[in-house]
Amino acid sequence: MVANPSKTPVKGGNLSWTNVIFFSVVHILALLAPWFFSWSALGTAIFLHWLLGSIGICLGYHRLLTHRSFQVPKPVEYAIATIGALALQGGPIFWVAGHRRHHLHTEDIDKDPYSAKRGFWWSHMLWLFYDDSESFDYQSYKRFAPDLDRDGYYRWLNQHFLWLQLPLGIGLYLLGGWSFVIYGMFVRAVCLWHSTWLINSATHMYGYRRFDCEDNSRNLWWAALLTYGEGWHNNHHAYPNVAKAGWQWWELDMTWWAIRGLEKLGLAKKIILPPTV
Ligand SMILES: [Zn+2]
Ligand SMILES: [Zn+2]
Repeated sequence: MVANPSKTPVKGGNLSWTNVIFFSVVHILALLAPWFFSWSALGTAIFLHWLLGSIGICLGYHRLLTHRSFQVPKPVEYAIATIGALALQGGPIFWVAGHRRHHLHTEDIDKDPYSAKRGFWWSHMLWLFYDDSESFDYQSYKRFAPDLDRDGYYRWLNQHFLWLQLPLGIGLYLLGGWSFVIYGMFVRAVCLWHSTWLINSATHMYGYRRFDCEDNSRNLWWAALLTYGEGWHNNHHAYPNVAKAGWQWWELDMTWWAIRGLEKLGLAKKIILPPTV
């Protein structure tokens, strides 16, 4: 296939109006935040940003399911994956397959679903707005996550993850009314989306490089703070299967702290560590 030198997002062809409307509506609802502010609602949003972001996405979807950089007992794995599914970043098979394609074809303009070579905004969020069967058609993307696709629970979660928002929303409403719903659902979702998306965009453009790997991945301290360690992305691309993203003491990696916590509880085993250099 010929590369697209103009970097225009023609790869997917048509706009996916379902996705455009979905992301727009959630962003608009998040803008209601000033009228619903309370400190407890803000605290709830921050807590859920950490729980769904660090534990669900970074530890669960990314380091555990995508890269298998450590192992936990199956019921714990299911629980963590379910927390990830609450983060509104798609089901586990979709997320894992897309990320494995990203590692397999990093920055390839056609094969990396969120190639940074197509520009900041494409890699950040625009890729989500275009119908691309390779990225969004289950029959197509499941090839990249056959291990998860063999598992009935992951197939169910992949299809029905959106329904999990219902008990979460009701729970938040019962706890603190609409203020908790706006902050815990919509403000949290928008902040968590953009934090995660920075790893596909900013950390392939800005920051320093420890490893001279073939892609343009970089270590970016402020992205690492917002993503609980994932911003040490050059380390990660150089050694994708290593469970620890921050390698120096000052490369803060909160998700690694959680993995160590699971290890201390006797739950995390076979943790892949950085090579001793
Ligand atoms: Zn990357
Ligand atoms: Zn990865």
